[in-house]
Amino acid sequence: MSNDPTRPSDPCPSVVVVPRGAHKQAPLPYSFSALEPYISRQQLEIHYTKHHAAYVEGLNKAELATERNWSRAQDLAFNGSGDILHTIYWTNMAPNAGGEPTGMVGEQIRAQFGDFATFRDEFTKASMAARGSGWGILVWQPQWGRMEILTASRHEDLTQWGTIPILVLDMWEHAFYIDYQNRKADYVNAWWNLVNWINVDYRLACAMQARIPM
Ligand code: MN
Repeated sequence: MSNDPTRPSDPCPSVVVVPRGAHKQAPLPYSFSALEPYISRQQLEIHYTKHHAAYVEGLNKAELATERNWSRAQDLAFNGSGDILHTIYWTNMAPNAGGEPTGMVGEQIRAQFGDFATFRDEFTKASMAARGSGWGILVWQPQWGRMEILTASRHEDLTQWGTIPILVLDMWEHAFYIDYQNRKADYVNAWWNLVNWINVDYRLACAMQARIPM
């Protein structure tokens, strides 16, 4: 997958089939220290090499498990969603990023939320609303032809079927505790300086190509 497009208009990636149990952790598109001072090298390195890696391992294990039981079903949902969301999270950030979105995503945000400040406030509140471990997630809902802001619990709970995540904010303590301890709001404020709007715009452009029967 072309995870690091230079322009939102780059062609969308073609389908890649990942065989059962053969998931590999997506490469980090920058160095561990690239997001400083907002996210430290130590914080990013442990998050990527330990936490995200564990979801990929858990997903492969669940896919290869021979028993069809409730525990396997939970492992597929939890680890699969954990892998997907982290892969998006890394590419949603970049050094020297942030600011206000332009392009299609800027247009959609203005059309649906009025202006960027209102959207930023809504997304921040949705992310802060995650209890314990969760995510703030901006999705494209192809069935309704518009975006929606969701708050996921863990990785897989409180979602909406059919949506395509385009901007995600990890609100698990493991994402910020080394740098911010209990100061969640400071982490979220700092994170806005890292949002790679080119990546979000590209993800939106590809998501908008989805055609789902009602
Ligand atoms: Mn995480």
